[in-house]
Amino acid sequence: MAEIKDDGKLAWILRSGWKGCCPRCGKGRMFASWLKIAPECGECGLDYRFASPDDGPAFFSLCIVAFPLTFLVVWFQVAVEPPMWVHLFTSVPLMMAGCLLPLRPIKGWLVASQYVNRAQEAGTEKLWARLHNQASGNAFGD
Ligand SMILES: [Zn+2]
Repeated sequence: MAEIKDDGKLAWILRSGWKGCCPRCGKGRMFASWLKIAPECGECGLDYRFASPDDGPAFFSLCIVAFPLTFLVVWFQVAVEPPMWVHLFTSVPLMMAGCLLPLRPIKGWLVASQYVNRAQEAGTEKLWARLHNQASGNAFGD
């Protein structure tokens, strides 16, 4: 199987993660529901058991979105000094959306990058070998 260039990899990871589609064929769906990874790809049969992003999505969501938003909210409080009820209608929904909305694309990116970079954890080598032996309809070509 030919290795694709790093920038091609990144574009592929971003695309399949953002759309929540299969990192191998790019057609099937990665998610069974909002944040639940499907057992396998409906198009090419990729087994998603390799996917183990664990707390990654929550961690990245916190770092990328929640911390900057917290600074924004604190700035809003210091600069404008709004009454507390204003925060109920501005800061609270903003923080909720800011923490929840990025979870799915981030999870998709982590799973896609696990597949593309073949991130291995101890004990999954056999599963990986099996997955790549049956990878005939590979999106990257052989
Ligand atoms: Zn697929």
